[in-house]
Amino acid sequence: MGTFGRLGGIAAIALLAASGVVAFATIAPSSDGSIEPPRRPIIEALPIRPDATPAPKSYFREEPYQRGDTLPALIERLGIEAGHAAKLAKVRALQQLRPGMHVSAEVSADGEPLMLSFLSGRETLVRIGAEANGQFRVTDDKAQLYTRIAMKSGVVQSSLFAAADDAGIPDSIAMQLGDVFGGDIDFHRDLRKGDHFAVVYEVHYLGGRPVRAGRLLAAEFTNNRKTFRAVHYGSSYYTPEGKNLRKAFLRSPLEFSRVSSGFGMRRHPIARAWMKHQGIDYAAPTGTRVRAVGDGIVEHAGMKGGYGNVVIIRHHGQYATVYAHLSRVAVRRGQRVAQNDTIGAVGQTGWATGPHLHYEFRVAGEPRNPFSIAMPAALPVAQQDLPAFHNQATPLIARLDLIANGAFAKLD
Ligand SMILES: [Zn+2]
Repeated sequence: MGTFGRLGGIAAIALLAASGVVAFATIAPSSDGSIEPPRRPIIEALPIRPDATPAPKSYFREEPYQRGDTLPALIERLGIEAGHAAKLAKVRALQQLRPGMHVSAEVSADGEPLMLSFLSGRETLVRIGAEANGQFRVTDDKAQLYTRIAMKSGVVQSSLFAAADDAGIPDSIAMQLGDVFGGDIDFHRDLRKGDHFAVVYEVHYLGGRPVRAGRLLAAEFTNNRKTFRAVHYGSSYYTPEGKNLRKAFLRSPLEFSRVSSGFGMRRHPIARAWMKHQGIDYAAPTGTRVRAVGDGIVEHAGMKGGYGNVVIIRHHGQYATVYAHLSRVAVRRGQRVAQNDTIGAVGQTGWATGPHLHYEFRVAGEPRNPFSIAMPAALPVAQQDLPAFHNQATPLIARLDLIANGAFAKLD
């Protein structure tokens, strides 16, 4: 599934938001089932009387290009007849299709393609029109996109992605949410049932339809009763007071993704107790991307006894991090790595009974619990930029307040 389908309801949400009403996706149905709001738009079939309107000469159809899709399959779903489909599949412009893109088609009553159009990755509207001679003519036009602001909220029951799905929040926004708070929250380990969040983000529209989510502009995340807030400014995210949310170390060495997130909640980490072996174990599927939690230099990369394939990174100051049992090592000894760079993949090499990442955080050579250490943050908003920052932040924070007051009041 692409993000497009989930964007369907956003136009309505944005309008509701403008009038002060905020949509709220709750997840747990009440025991009597009486107050659960509908999660998806309810589409009722309209009775159609075939005699009331003449049969149209052509009709319009729209289909998403899905992950694992093929061009012939898509063309067939658009209702194009097989004889025309073979010819159409040869049109080179269609090679630009990627999962998540939507193709609109005007097709004649007997299955002949009249016009196809889609928005390419470079914000270009591609049109493929049938000519009288049976050929196709391709034109590219700069798409007239416009942007609206959407506001949504959700409650975590099993994983952040599941909560985002239930609230109709696109993947790209859920990922940005994970990145923005990645210095404060370990989304693999810290999430609790009942954690809740609100997001304010851009949605790009074309011809009245949402085509893509843009930047996350502001967000709030309440994790285990502690609330974090973020506002986008310049190229970074800050607290409403102007403190930088970027920390010297990420909370989690695991990539935040649909595959890995929620894994730890469903199946508890192999050993929750940090004390036992002076590290943290993250249960995750083999192959899950492992990232450097901070900038540094690779001190070791390769086999090492019970650790199996292990990467050790030396960071600024007295800090070092250890990533063990990897199935694959993606760095070399002596290599400089930046925060969030890929260093390998989860595996079960060495003394491991199942696929997991063993992670250690060391200070001056001694394993320490990273969650007990206050991490240094990147620079705050400069003093002279504070007025401009507050100008931008204040209306965004007001929106977060609006969502929080409307949606979460009933939770307390
Ligand atoms: Zn371990």
